[in-house]
Amino acid sequence: MRKTIIVSNRLPVKIAENEGAFTATASEGGLATGLGSIYREGNNIWIGWPGIELADAEQQETVREKLAEMNLLPVYLTQDEINNYYEGFSNEILWPVFHYMGVYARYEQAYWDSYYQVNNKFKEIILSVAAPGDTIWIHDYQLLLLPGMIRAILPEISIGFFQHIPFPSYELFRLIPWRAELLEGMLGADLIGFHTFDDTRHFMNAASRILPVLTSSNVVTINDRFVVVDTFPMGIDYQRFESLAASDKVIQQAHGLREKFQNIRILLSIDRLDYSKGILQRLQAFELLLQTHPEYIEKVGFCMIVVPSRDTVPQYKELRDEIDKLVGNINARYRTMSWNPIHYFYRSFPIEILSALYTLSDICLVTPMRDGMNLVSKEYVASRTNNDGVLVLSEMAGASKELMDAIIVNPNNIGAMTNAIIEALDMPLAEQERRMKSMRQVVAKFNISHWVKLFMATLVEVNKMQQSML
Ligand code: UDP
Repeated sequence: MRKTIIVSNRLPVKIAENEGAFTATASEGGLATGLGSIYREGNNIWIGWPGIELADAEQQETVREKLAEMNLLPVYLTQDEINNYYEGFSNEILWPVFHYMGVYARYEQAYWDSYYQVNNKFKEIILSVAAPGDTIWIHDYQLLLLPGMIRAILPEISIGFFQHIPFPSYELFRLIPWRAELLEGMLGADLIGFHTFDDTRHFMNAASRILPVLTSSNVVTINDRFVVVDTFPMGIDYQRFESLAASDKVIQQAHGLREKFQNIRILLSIDRLDYSKGILQRLQAFELLLQTHPEYIEKVGFCMIVVPSRDTVPQYKELRDEIDKLVGNINARYRTMSWNPIHYFYRSFPIEILSALYTLSDICLVTPMRDGMNLVSKEYVASRTNNDGVLVLSEMAGASKELMDAIIVNPNNIGAMTNAIIEALDMPLAEQERRMKSMRQVVAKFNISHWVKLFMATLVEVNKMQQSML
Protein backbone atom coordinates (compact mmCIF):
# COMPACT_ATOMS: atom_id res chain seq x y z
CA MET A 1 0.00 0.00 0.00
CA ARG A 2 1.31 3.41 -0.96
CA LYS A 3 1.99 5.76 1.92
CA THR A 4 2.72 9.39 2.65
CA ILE A 5 5.81 10.29 4.66
CA ILE A 6 5.87 13.69 6.35
CA VAL A 7 9.31 14.94 7.37
CA SER A 8 10.17 17.94 9.53
CA ASN A 9 12.94 18.87 11.93
CA ARG A 10 10.65 18.40 14.95
CA LEU A 11 8.01 15.73 15.45
CA PRO A 12 4.52 16.98 16.36
CA VAL A 13 4.87 15.70 19.96
CA LYS A 14 6.54 16.75 23.16
CA ILE A 15 8.44 13.93 24.88
CA ALA A 16 8.96 14.32 28.61
CA GLU A 17 10.86 12.11 31.05
CA ASN A 18 9.56 11.50 34.53
CA GLU A 19 11.57 9.17 36.81
CA GLY A 20 12.70 7.02 33.90
CA ALA A 21 9.27 6.84 32.25
CA PHE A 22 8.56 8.71 29.03
CA THR A 23 5.33 10.41 28.06
CA ALA A 24 4.47 11.78 24.64
CA THR A 25 1.96 14.63 24.34
CA ALA A 26 0.68 15.59 20.90
CA SER A 27 1.51 19.17 19.98
CA GLU A 28 -1.35 21.54 19.26
CA GLY A 29 0.41 23.58 16.58
CA GLY A 30 -1.42 24.40 13.36
CA LEU A 31 0.87 22.32 11.17
CA ALA A 32 0.43 19.26 13.41
CA THR A 33 -3.35 19.71 13.26
CA GLY A 34 -3.41 20.22 9.50
CA LEU A 35 -1.21 17.25 8.79
CA GLY A 36 -2.93 15.13 11.45
CA SER A 37 -5.48 14.03 8.88
CA ILE A 38 -2.61 12.60 6.85
CA TYR A 39 0.02 11.08 9.11
CA ARG A 40 -2.38 9.32 11.47
CA GLU A 41 -3.98 7.37 8.64
CA GLY A 42 -3.08 3.87 7.45
CA ASN A 43 0.63 3.23 7.31
CA ASN A 44 1.51 6.91 6.81
CA ILE A 45 4.25 8.23 9.02
CA TRP A 46 5.88 11.44 10.32
CA ILE A 47 9.66 11.49 10.70
CA GLY A 48 11.56 14.02 12.82
CA TRP A 49 13.53 14.84 15.95
CA PRO A 50 11.58 14.16 19.17
CA GLY A 51 13.07 17.25 20.84
CA ILE A 52 14.93 15.39 23.59
CA GLU A 53 18.53 14.26 23.69
CA LEU A 54 18.75 10.54 24.45
CA ALA A 55 22.20 8.97 24.35
CA ASP A 56 21.13 5.65 25.87
CA ALA A 57 20.19 3.03 23.26
CA GLU A 58 17.64 1.40 25.52
CA GLN A 59 15.88 4.69 26.18
CA GLN A 60 15.93 5.46 22.46
CA GLU A 61 14.19 2.15 21.82
CA THR A 62 11.56 2.79 24.51
CA VAL A 63 10.72 6.18 23.01
CA ARG A 64 10.77 4.73 19.48
CA GLU A 65 8.14 2.16 20.46
CA LYS A 66 5.98 4.78 22.12
CA LEU A 67 6.17 7.03 19.05
CA ALA A 68 5.43 4.14 16.68
CA GLU A 69 1.96 3.83 18.27
CA MET A 70 1.29 7.36 16.94
CA ASN A 71 2.74 6.73 13.45
CA LEU A 72 5.86 8.71 14.35
CA LEU A 73 9.47 7.75 13.71
CA PRO A 74 12.26 9.56 15.58
CA VAL A 75 15.57 10.86 14.26
CA TYR A 76 17.87 11.12 17.29
CA LEU A 77 20.35 13.98 17.32
CA THR A 78 23.48 14.20 19.43
CA GLN A 79 24.29 17.33 21.44
CA ASP A 80 26.97 18.17 18.89
CA GLU A 81 24.43 17.92 16.06
CA ILE A 82 21.95 20.07 17.94
CA ASN A 83 24.67 22.71 18.41
CA ASN A 84 26.00 22.72 14.85
CA TYR A 85 23.16 21.62 12.56
CA TYR A 86 20.24 23.16 14.44
CA GLU A 87 21.51 26.13 16.43
CA GLY A 88 24.48 26.66 14.10
CA PHE A 89 23.65 26.27 10.42
CA SER A 90 19.86 26.50 10.69
CA ASN A 91 19.54 29.29 13.22
CA GLU A 92 22.79 31.24 12.86
CA ILE A 93 23.07 31.16 9.05
CA LEU A 94 19.82 30.32 7.28
CA TRP A 95 17.47 32.04 9.74
CA PRO A 96 19.21 35.46 9.73
CA VAL A 97 19.99 35.48 6.00
CA PHE A 98 16.48 34.38 5.02
CA HIS A 99 15.06 37.10 7.29
CA TYR A 100 17.26 39.78 5.72
CA MET A 101 19.58 40.07 8.76
CA GLY A 102 22.73 39.01 6.90
CA VAL A 103 25.03 40.69 9.42
CA TYR A 104 23.99 38.19 12.10
CA ALA A 105 25.15 35.18 10.05
CA ARG A 106 28.23 33.18 11.10
CA TYR A 107 29.50 31.15 8.15
CA GLU A 108 31.27 28.35 10.05
CA GLN A 109 32.48 25.33 8.09
CA ALA A 110 31.67 23.07 11.08
CA TYR A 111 28.04 24.21 10.88
CA TRP A 112 27.84 23.20 7.23
CA ASP A 113 29.50 19.82 7.84
CA SER A 114 26.97 19.03 10.53
CA TYR A 115 24.02 20.30 8.44
CA TYR A 116 25.07 17.95 5.63
CA GLN A 117 25.56 15.07 8.04
CA VAL A 118 22.17 15.50 9.75
CA ASN A 119 20.29 15.86 6.44
CA ASN A 120 22.02 12.62 5.48
CA LYS A 121 20.90 11.02 8.73
CA PHE A 122 17.29 11.98 7.94
CA LYS A 123 17.76 10.50 4.47
CA GLU A 124 18.90 7.13 5.89
CA ILE A 125 15.87 6.93 8.16
CA ILE A 126 13.49 7.87 5.34
CA LEU A 127 15.05 5.21 3.13
CA SER A 128 14.52 2.63 5.85
CA VAL A 129 10.74 3.04 5.38
CA ALA A 130 10.23 4.53 1.89
CA ALA A 131 9.09 2.37 -1.01
CA PRO A 132 8.50 3.18 -4.69
CA GLY A 133 5.10 4.81 -5.14
CA ASP A 134 5.25 6.63 -1.77
CA THR A 135 4.91 10.40 -1.42
CA ILE A 136 7.35 12.34 0.76
CA TRP A 137 6.52 15.84 2.02
CA ILE A 138 9.51 17.60 3.55
CA HIS A 139 9.16 20.76 5.64
CA ASP A 140 11.33 23.77 6.14
CA TYR A 141 14.76 25.29 6.15
CA GLN A 142 16.48 22.77 8.41
CA LEU A 143 16.16 20.14 5.66
CA LEU A 144 17.01 21.93 2.40
CA LEU A 145 19.44 19.23 1.25
CA LEU A 146 17.09 16.34 1.89
CA PRO A 147 15.01 16.36 -1.33
CA GLY A 148 18.20 16.12 -3.44
CA MET A 149 19.69 13.39 -1.25
CA ILE A 150 16.57 11.24 -1.58
CA ARG A 151 16.19 11.95 -5.30
CA ALA A 152 19.75 10.64 -5.89
CA ILE A 153 18.73 7.24 -4.52
CA LEU A 154 15.04 7.05 -5.46
CA PRO A 155 14.79 8.93 -8.76
CA GLU A 156 11.11 8.11 -9.28
CA ILE A 157 9.69 8.91 -5.87
CA SER A 158 7.28 11.83 -5.41
CA ILE A 159 8.76 14.60 -3.22
CA GLY A 160 7.14 17.84 -2.10
CA PHE A 161 9.01 20.54 -0.20
CA PHE A 162 7.53 23.50 1.67
CA GLN A 163 9.53 26.34 3.17
CA HIS A 164 7.83 28.06 6.11
CA ILE A 165 10.18 31.05 6.32
CA PRO A 166 10.86 33.72 3.66
CA PHE A 167 13.14 33.09 0.71
CA PRO A 168 15.30 36.20 0.38
CA SER A 169 16.29 38.18 -2.66
CA TYR A 170 19.23 36.78 -4.66
CA GLU A 171 21.48 39.54 -3.29
CA LEU A 172 21.07 38.15 0.21
CA PHE A 173 20.97 34.47 -0.69
CA ARG A 174 24.20 34.67 -2.70
CA LEU A 175 26.11 35.58 0.49
CA ILE A 176 25.87 31.98 1.71
CA PRO A 177 29.03 30.03 0.78
CA TRP A 178 27.00 26.84 0.18
CA ARG A 179 24.27 28.52 -1.92
CA ALA A 180 24.54 26.17 -4.94
CA GLU A 181 24.38 23.02 -2.80
CA LEU A 182 21.31 24.37 -0.98
CA LEU A 183 19.46 25.10 -4.22
CA GLU A 184 20.40 21.73 -5.71
CA GLY A 185 19.10 20.08 -2.55
CA MET A 186 15.75 21.86 -2.77
CA LEU A 187 15.43 21.10 -6.48
CA GLY A 188 15.40 17.39 -5.69
CA ALA A 189 11.69 17.96 -4.98
CA ASP A 190 8.97 17.79 -7.67
CA LEU A 191 7.03 20.65 -6.10
CA ILE A 192 8.51 23.47 -4.00
CA GLY A 193 6.11 25.71 -2.08
CA PHE A 194 6.46 29.11 -0.43
CA HIS A 195 4.04 31.36 1.46
CA THR A 196 4.16 34.35 -0.87
CA PHE A 197 4.59 35.17 -4.51
CA ASP A 198 7.71 37.21 -3.68
CA ASP A 199 9.41 34.22 -2.01
CA THR A 200 8.64 32.12 -5.08
CA ARG A 201 10.02 34.79 -7.41
CA HIS A 202 13.18 35.18 -5.31
CA PHE A 203 13.77 31.45 -5.40
CA MET A 204 13.33 31.29 -9.19
CA ASN A 205 15.69 34.19 -9.61
CA ALA A 206 18.35 32.67 -7.33
CA ALA A 207 18.09 29.29 -9.11
CA SER A 208 18.47 30.82 -12.56
CA ARG A 209 21.45 32.96 -11.56
CA ILE A 210 23.36 30.43 -9.47
CA LEU A 211 22.74 27.11 -11.24
CA PRO A 212 22.92 26.02 -14.89
CA VAL A 213 19.15 25.45 -15.03
CA LEU A 214 16.37 26.61 -17.30
CA THR A 215 13.53 28.54 -15.73
CA SER A 216 10.19 29.67 -17.07
CA SER A 217 7.47 31.38 -15.05
CA ASN A 218 7.23 28.76 -12.30
CA VAL A 219 9.09 25.73 -13.61
CA VAL A 220 12.77 24.93 -13.16
CA THR A 221 14.26 22.35 -15.51
CA ILE A 222 17.28 20.60 -14.00
CA ASN A 223 18.96 17.47 -15.42
CA ASP A 224 15.93 16.86 -17.69
CA ARG A 225 13.54 16.85 -14.72
CA PHE A 226 11.11 19.64 -14.18
CA VAL A 227 10.33 21.10 -10.81
CA VAL A 228 7.27 23.27 -10.15
CA VAL A 229 7.69 26.19 -7.75
CA ASP A 230 4.50 27.79 -6.47
CA THR A 231 2.83 29.89 -3.78
CA PHE A 232 0.71 28.28 -1.02
CA PRO A 233 -0.08 30.72 1.80
CA MET A 234 -0.53 28.62 4.92
CA GLY A 235 -3.72 28.95 6.95
CA ILE A 236 -4.72 28.16 10.53
CA ASP A 237 -7.26 25.88 12.17
CA TYR A 238 -9.94 28.58 11.92
CA GLN A 239 -12.68 26.45 13.43
CA ARG A 240 -10.63 25.80 16.54
CA PHE A 241 -9.96 29.48 17.29
CA GLU A 242 -13.52 30.45 16.49
CA SER A 243 -15.04 27.83 18.77
CA LEU A 244 -12.48 28.42 21.54
CA ALA A 245 -13.49 32.10 21.54
CA ALA A 246 -17.11 31.06 22.06
CA SER A 247 -16.38 28.47 24.76
CA ASP A 248 -17.48 29.04 28.38
CA LYS A 249 -13.96 28.62 29.71
CA VAL A 250 -12.50 31.31 27.45
CA ILE A 251 -15.44 33.67 27.95
CA GLN A 252 -14.94 33.38 31.72
CA GLN A 253 -11.18 33.95 31.43
CA ALA A 254 -11.73 36.99 29.22
CA HIS A 255 -14.33 38.35 31.60
CA GLY A 256 -11.99 37.96 34.57
CA LEU A 257 -9.19 39.75 32.73
CA ARG A 258 -11.51 42.50 31.52
CA GLU A 259 -12.37 43.38 35.11
CA LYS A 260 -8.73 44.21 35.73
CA PHE A 261 -8.65 46.55 32.72
CA GLN A 262 -11.79 48.59 33.22
CA ASN A 263 -12.06 51.60 30.88
CA ILE A 264 -8.76 50.72 29.27
CA ARG A 265 -8.27 49.96 25.58
CA ILE A 266 -6.06 46.90 25.28
CA LEU A 267 -3.29 46.48 22.74
CA LEU A 268 -1.89 42.97 22.35
CA SER A 269 1.22 41.47 20.84
CA ILE A 270 2.36 37.84 20.90
CA ASP A 271 5.69 36.67 19.46
CA ARG A 272 8.54 34.30 20.07
CA LEU A 273 11.67 36.10 21.21
CA ASP A 274 13.26 36.86 17.85
CA TYR A 275 15.02 39.80 16.21
CA SER A 276 12.82 39.28 13.14
CA LYS A 277 9.69 40.17 15.12
CA GLY A 278 10.32 43.92 15.50
CA ILE A 279 9.64 43.89 19.26
CA LEU A 280 11.89 46.86 20.10
CA GLN A 281 10.50 49.01 17.28
CA ARG A 282 6.96 48.24 18.45
CA LEU A 283 7.86 49.33 21.98
CA GLN A 284 9.34 52.54 20.58
CA ALA A 285 6.11 53.23 18.69
CA PHE A 286 4.14 52.73 21.89
CA GLU A 287 6.53 54.99 23.81
CA LEU A 288 6.10 57.68 21.15
CA LEU A 289 2.33 57.39 21.55
CA LEU A 290 2.56 58.11 25.29
CA GLN A 291 5.08 60.88 24.74
CA THR A 292 3.22 62.75 21.99
CA HIS A 293 -0.36 61.91 23.02
CA PRO A 294 -0.49 62.10 26.82
CA GLU A 295 -4.29 61.95 26.61
CA TYR A 296 -3.87 58.18 26.24
CA ILE A 297 -2.16 57.86 29.63
CA GLU A 298 -4.37 55.67 31.86
CA LYS A 299 -6.53 54.98 28.79
CA VAL A 300 -4.51 52.25 27.02
CA GLY A 301 -2.66 49.16 28.20
CA PHE A 302 -0.17 47.17 26.13
CA CYS A 303 -0.16 43.44 26.86
CA MET A 304 3.06 42.08 25.36
CA ILE A 305 3.77 38.36 25.38
CA VAL A 306 7.21 37.17 24.37
CA VAL A 307 7.69 33.42 24.28
CA PRO A 308 11.21 32.27 25.26
CA SER A 309 13.16 30.95 22.28
CA ARG A 310 16.74 30.07 21.25
CA ASP A 311 18.16 31.72 24.35
CA THR A 312 21.51 29.98 23.90
CA VAL A 313 22.20 32.09 20.78
CA PRO A 314 23.96 35.35 21.85
CA GLN A 315 21.78 37.74 19.77
CA TYR A 316 18.65 36.39 21.43
CA LYS A 317 20.06 36.94 24.92
CA GLU A 318 21.01 40.50 24.00
CA LEU A 319 17.58 41.16 22.55
CA ARG A 320 15.96 39.91 25.73
CA ASP A 321 18.09 42.30 27.82
CA GLU A 322 17.20 45.22 25.55
CA ILE A 323 13.48 44.44 25.79
CA ASP A 324 13.75 44.23 29.60
CA LYS A 325 15.46 47.63 29.66
CA LEU A 326 13.05 49.38 27.33
CA VAL A 327 9.94 47.98 29.02
CA GLY A 328 11.35 48.99 32.42
CA ASN A 329 12.15 52.42 31.13
CA ILE A 330 8.73 53.09 29.61
CA ASN A 331 6.88 51.73 32.65
CA ALA A 332 9.01 53.74 35.06
CA ARG A 333 8.51 56.97 33.12
CA TYR A 334 4.83 56.79 32.35
CA ARG A 335 3.18 54.71 35.05
CA THR A 336 0.84 56.27 37.58
CA MET A 337 -0.23 55.04 41.02
CA SER A 338 -3.18 53.20 39.51
CA TRP A 339 -1.98 52.33 35.98
CA ASN A 340 0.86 50.56 34.23
CA PRO A 341 1.40 51.07 30.49
CA ILE A 342 3.01 47.73 29.57
CA HIS A 343 2.13 44.28 30.91
CA TYR A 344 5.11 42.29 29.73
CA PHE A 345 5.24 38.48 30.02
CA TYR A 346 8.33 36.47 29.10
CA ARG A 347 6.70 33.04 29.02
CA SER A 348 4.29 30.92 27.02
CA PHE A 349 0.59 30.46 27.75
CA PRO A 350 -1.96 27.70 27.18
CA ILE A 351 -4.15 28.20 24.15
CA GLU A 352 -7.25 29.08 26.26
CA ILE A 353 -5.45 32.10 27.71
CA LEU A 354 -4.20 33.15 24.27
CA SER A 355 -7.75 32.85 23.00
CA ALA A 356 -9.07 34.95 25.93
CA LEU A 357 -6.46 37.61 25.13
CA TYR A 358 -7.37 37.59 21.44
CA THR A 359 -11.06 38.04 22.23
CA LEU A 360 -10.37 40.70 24.85
CA SER A 361 -7.93 42.95 22.99
CA ASP A 362 -9.15 45.96 21.06
CA ILE A 363 -6.06 46.05 18.88
CA CYS A 364 -3.52 43.40 17.88
CA LEU A 365 -0.07 44.66 16.88
CA VAL A 366 1.77 42.28 14.54
CA THR A 367 4.76 44.24 13.32
CA PRO A 368 7.65 41.93 12.38
CA MET A 369 10.65 43.21 10.45
CA ARG A 370 10.29 40.02 8.38
CA ASP A 371 8.02 36.99 8.80
CA GLY A 372 7.34 34.06 6.48
CA MET A 373 3.60 34.13 7.21
CA ASN A 374 2.74 35.00 10.86
CA LEU A 375 -0.03 32.91 12.34
CA VAL A 376 -0.77 35.16 15.33
CA SER A 377 -2.38 37.71 12.99
CA LYS A 378 -4.72 35.03 11.59
CA GLU A 379 -5.50 33.63 15.04
CA TYR A 380 -6.53 37.11 16.22
CA VAL A 381 -8.88 37.49 13.25
CA ALA A 382 -10.37 34.00 13.74
CA SER A 383 -11.03 34.79 17.41
CA ARG A 384 -12.97 38.02 16.73
CA THR A 385 -16.39 36.40 16.64
CA ASN A 386 -18.08 39.81 17.22
CA ASN A 387 -16.37 41.17 14.09
CA ASP A 388 -14.83 44.09 15.98
CA GLY A 389 -11.17 44.81 16.82
CA VAL A 390 -8.35 46.15 14.67
CA LEU A 391 -5.28 44.39 13.33
CA VAL A 392 -2.15 46.47 12.75
CA LEU A 393 0.04 44.39 10.46
CA SER A 394 3.56 44.77 9.07
CA GLU A 395 3.89 44.77 5.31
CA MET A 396 6.93 42.50 5.84
CA ALA A 397 4.76 39.62 7.13
CA GLY A 398 3.55 37.10 4.54
CA ALA A 399 0.06 37.45 6.06
CA SER A 400 -0.14 41.06 4.82
CA LYS A 401 -0.65 39.73 1.28
CA GLU A 402 -3.93 38.15 2.38
CA LEU A 403 -5.14 40.34 5.27
CA MET A 404 -5.38 43.50 3.24
CA ASP A 405 -8.02 45.02 5.50
CA ALA A 406 -5.56 45.32 8.36
CA ILE A 407 -3.86 48.68 8.93
CA ILE A 408 -0.65 47.92 7.06
CA VAL A 409 2.59 49.47 8.39
CA ASN A 410 6.30 49.56 7.66
CA PRO A 411 7.89 48.42 10.95
CA ASN A 412 10.95 50.61 10.36
CA ASN A 413 8.77 53.70 10.41
CA ILE A 414 8.19 54.28 14.12
CA GLY A 415 6.09 57.42 13.57
CA ALA A 416 3.85 55.63 11.09
CA MET A 417 3.34 52.79 13.57
CA THR A 418 2.34 55.29 16.27
CA ASN A 419 -0.13 56.84 13.82
CA ALA A 420 -1.45 53.39 12.97
CA ILE A 421 -2.13 52.75 16.67
CA ILE A 422 -3.99 56.07 16.89
CA GLU A 423 -5.97 55.25 13.74
CA ALA A 424 -6.87 51.89 15.28
CA LEU A 425 -7.91 53.49 18.58
CA ASP A 426 -10.09 55.99 16.73
CA MET A 427 -11.59 53.60 14.19
CA PRO A 428 -15.43 53.68 14.20
CA LEU A 429 -17.10 50.37 15.00
CA ALA A 430 -18.73 50.12 11.56
CA GLU A 431 -15.33 50.40 9.91
CA GLN A 432 -13.82 47.82 12.28
CA GLU A 433 -16.63 45.43 11.40
CA ARG A 434 -16.32 45.95 7.68
CA ARG A 435 -12.62 45.16 7.78
CA MET A 436 -12.80 42.32 10.29
CA LYS A 437 -15.61 40.55 8.42
CA SER A 438 -13.68 40.58 5.19
CA MET A 439 -10.51 39.29 6.88
CA ARG A 440 -12.48 36.59 8.68
CA GLN A 441 -13.79 35.33 5.36
CA VAL A 442 -10.25 34.99 4.04
CA VAL A 443 -8.95 33.20 7.15
CA ALA A 444 -12.00 30.90 7.28
CA LYS A 445 -11.73 29.88 3.65
CA PHE A 446 -7.97 29.48 3.28
CA ASN A 447 -7.60 27.44 6.44
CA ILE A 448 -4.99 24.81 7.27
CA SER A 449 -6.83 21.88 5.75
CA HIS A 450 -7.39 23.82 2.53
CA TRP A 451 -3.62 24.44 2.44
CA VAL A 452 -2.75 20.77 2.99
CA LYS A 453 -5.23 19.60 0.34
CA LEU A 454 -4.08 22.17 -2.20
CA PHE A 455 -0.40 21.32 -1.79
CA MET A 456 -0.98 17.58 -1.98
CA ALA A 457 -3.32 17.88 -4.97
CA THR A 458 -0.79 20.06 -6.80
CA LEU A 459 1.94 17.51 -6.13
CA VAL A 460 -0.24 14.79 -7.67
CA GLU A 461 -0.82 17.02 -10.73
CA VAL A 462 2.90 17.71 -11.10
CA ASN A 463 3.69 13.99 -10.94
CA LYS A 464 1.04 13.29 -13.61
CA MET A 465 2.54 15.92 -15.89
CA GLN A 466 6.01 14.48 -15.37
CA GLN A 467 4.71 11.00 -16.27
CA SER A 468 3.04 12.25 -19.43
CA MET A 469 6.28 13.82 -20.60
CA LEU A 470 8.35 10.65 -20.26
N1 UDP B 1 1.91 30.41 20.64
C1 UDP B 1 1.89 29.40 21.58
N2 UDP B 1 2.06 29.70 22.89
C2 UDP B 1 2.24 30.97 23.34
C3 UDP B 1 2.27 32.00 22.37
C4 UDP B 1 2.12 31.68 21.03
O1 UDP B 1 1.71 28.23 21.21
O2 UDP B 1 2.40 31.19 24.54
C5 UDP B 1 1.68 30.06 19.21
C6 UDP B 1 0.71 30.97 18.51
O3 UDP B 1 -0.62 30.61 18.83
C7 UDP B 1 1.08 30.75 17.05
C8 UDP B 1 2.56 30.38 17.11
O4 UDP B 1 2.88 30.20 18.49
O5 UDP B 1 0.36 29.67 16.50
C9 UDP B 1 3.46 31.44 16.52
O6 UDP B 1 3.42 31.36 15.12
P1 UDP B 1 3.87 32.57 14.18
O7 UDP B 1 3.70 32.14 12.77
O8 UDP B 1 3.13 33.82 14.56
O9 UDP B 1 5.40 32.83 14.53
P2 UDP B 1 6.68 31.83 14.62
O10 UDP B 1 6.93 31.64 16.09
O11 UDP B 1 6.30 30.56 13.91
O12 UDP B 1 7.81 32.58 13.97
